[in-house]
Amino acid sequence: MERADSIGNETVLDCIVIGAGPGGLQACIHLGRYNFRVMLFDTPGGRTSYAKHIENYLGIPVVSGPDLLETGLSQAKSFGVMVENVKVDRVLGREGQFEVQAGGKTFRSRFVIAASGAKETLAPFKNLHRFFGHSYYTCMICDGYRTTGKKLLVIDRTVNGVRMSVGMKQMYTKDVTFLAHGFSLAPVYRALLEEEGIGLVEGRPEELLGEATLEGVRLSDGRVIPCEVILGWGGISLNEEYLEGLDVERDAEGFKIMTKSSGESSIPGLFVLGALREGHSQAIISAGQGAEAAIEISTRIVEI
Ligand SMILES: Cc1cc2nc3c(=O)[nH]c(=O)nc-3n(C[C@H](O)[C@H](O)[C@H](O)COP(=O)(O)OP(=O)(O)OC[C@H]3O[C@@H](n4cnc5c(N)ncnc54)[C@H](O)[C@@H]3O)c2cc1C
Repeated sequence: MERADSIGNETVLDCIVIGAGPGGLQACIHLGRYNFRVMLFDTPGGRTSYAKHIENYLGIPVVSGPDLLETGLSQAKSFGVMVENVKVDRVLGREGQFEVQAGGKTFRSRFVIAASGAKETLAPFKNLHRFFGHSYYTCMICDGYRTTGKKLLVIDRTVNGVRMSVGMKQMYTKDVTFLAHGFSLAPVYRALLEEEGIGLVEGRPEELLGEATLEGVRLSDGRVIPCEVILGWGGISLNEEYLEGLDVERDAEGFKIMTKSSGESSIPGLFVLGALREGHSQAIISAGQGAEAAIEISTRIVEI
């Protein structure tokens, strides 16, 4: 099949993939190997690029997020996937095709895969970026294991921190303290923490201490709470502004996008992967979803 180096306004691609995270790249690898005309749009700075040690990915004992992505990108390119390092501004559905606006140009395709992930919202603690992904973690599933046997401080602004503290103690480390950020814990939860042998501090964290390694947290009243690792609060916002013109079905909270098991959303031909979609967000899960979406798209293209 012929592939153009640059695509003009009139050319209709088979698939446009938005986001070069594990989901988007895996979809590109599959689609490229079907000899389809595929264009991948990406801007840097996705969540995987912050992962320092991915060690739960089959066949790879340990890899950093950036290394995993770099290998995946060259794999995708080797199968003829065209790559544009520009942000997608808008996706519109028009007459059985999609119109994708990016970098001041319009591209058309029969299918779109939205794999643009999410943005991390981090607590405003001084020096947090120095330790993020090394010893300040926001995800128990991704990084709980890395706290094994270490002096752990769990920081949360809600009683959910009690649940996290108990879970961390049962799974990873006996040395857990819960820092209730800016609120006073109800007696029932205090009693629970005491029973579980989990320390409690109430206060407002301001600064993470240490140079190469984390040494503790300074509170606004000057107290210093020593620790080696932190499981701290964070949140995510979805990278999906470009979908505003499409009325996709969401979960009960109106947040994540609902899909079929193939990843197809309520808009026929629009597939959604990774953090944008309901369910757990992990690199290997996104990659599996990318493969699944690509296979489904291949069967549709053959039918067309
Ligand atoms: C610190 C940290 C550690 C982690 N550790 C692990 C781990 O050990 N194991 C594990 O399985 N998972 C881990 N994860 C989670 C994993 O990174 C996510 O589950 C995974 O990133 C989801 O991938 P994704 O395909 O949704 O997108 P992402 O990796 O978020 O990639 C999306 C891409 O799309 C780009 N993009 C966004 N908007 C646009 C746009 N409008 N136009 C073009 N491009 C756009 C982004 O910049 C990015 O490059 C970790 C995450 C973090 C933050």
